[in-house]
Amino acid sequence: MSDEPSHPDHPIDVRPATIAVTGGRPARQPDAPLNPPITMASTYVAAGDVEYGRYGNPTWSAFEEVLGALEGGRALAFASGMAAATTVLDLVGPGAGVVAPQHAYSGTIMALADLEARGRLHAHLVDIADTDAVIGAMKADEDCALLWIESPTNPALELADIETLARAAHELGVRVVVDNTFATPLLQQPLSLGADIVVHSATKYLAGHSDVQLGALVVSDEEVSGALKARRDLVGAVPGPFETWLALRGMRTLHLRLERAQANAIEIAGRLADHPGVVEVRYPGFGAIVALVLADGFSADLVARSTRLWVHATSLGGVESTLERRRRWKAEASTIPEGLLRLSVGIEDVEDLWTDLERALAPLVP
Ligand SMILES: *Cc1c(COP(=O)(O)O)cnc(C)c1O
Repeated sequence: MSDEPSHPDHPIDVRPATIAVTGGRPARQPDAPLNPPITMASTYVAAGDVEYGRYGNPTWSAFEEVLGALEGGRALAFASGMAAATTVLDLVGPGAGVVAPQHAYSGTIMALADLEARGRLHAHLVDIADTDAVIGAMKADEDCALLWIESPTNPALELADIETLARAAHELGVRVVVDNTFATPLLQQPLSLGADIVVHSATKYLAGHSDVQLGALVVSDEEVSGALKARRDLVGAVPGPFETWLALRGMRTLHLRLERAQANAIEIAGRLADHPGVVEVRYPGFGAIVALVLADGFSADLVARSTRLWVHATSLGGVESTLERRRRWKAEASTIPEGLLRLSVGIEDVEDLWTDLERALAPLVP
């Protein structure tokens, strides 16, 4: 290895905002494009590193370089967040135990239930904010192989003590996965807190414009990274070059979008807490997802349908503000209140967002 910097655009240690803007660029040569072009190729001239379209793509690599640098590990792009998540679960041996949050993303819960029904693993769902209970669940299953953390959880917005849990898991020989979709690497870097694998639905904040389906894994260990890449090659849950290009373009402004969305979310959460029609506001203190619970007897669906600016839609993490009642989904945990609305706060003018929300909530005011 030479002492030369690995990338001409990163001659010095740079901070996350700079990585977001400059990472993954092609080598600086006269007339080279400044940013990575979209490489549409199913095959490559033989005897190189890639060879075939399912094994790699320069546009994926550019996206992976930026996300890997932000999370502090090696990133792998997948066709969706669920493709990334199920690839991790695929590596768990038959009969192994998996401890996971009862309020994890509903797709993750469904994937665990599906694997359990087919005899592949035993899932133990816990309150991820109760550190003692999580450690107890790992100890109670001597075949426990994986601790799945999501923090904040979707949509209950509970927080896990990732550092303490990772330490305890490793003492028990349990591997630790963190779904970092809500926080993004700008607000939380699970690998530096001891996690082994980070999962992203890049569909959300990383791409950030509600126009891309994409997932990713980030790992620090070369061997684990190789095993996950081998699964991606085999199963073929690979993204399109255009999707990774859009996500990379989205990540160029991740820090700006997140800063504005978070500032809006803090303001909205504070005002909702004083609203007479709202019995509970959940906001973990960072990020841009806010959950509110309406007083009994009021229709959260009606509120979701009455806003004009906020769009009634699932998903989150785009520049646009969206909201939905989570229990409209059959797979949502029954412990989530019927009247819980999840707000994904966007980057519009906060006064316009508040005026619209207040108007939709007005029928609830006694
Ligand atoms: C959306 C989401 C996923 C699934 O990602 P897809 O890109 O929709 O497959 C996983 N985890 C969390 C926390 C999510 O919000």
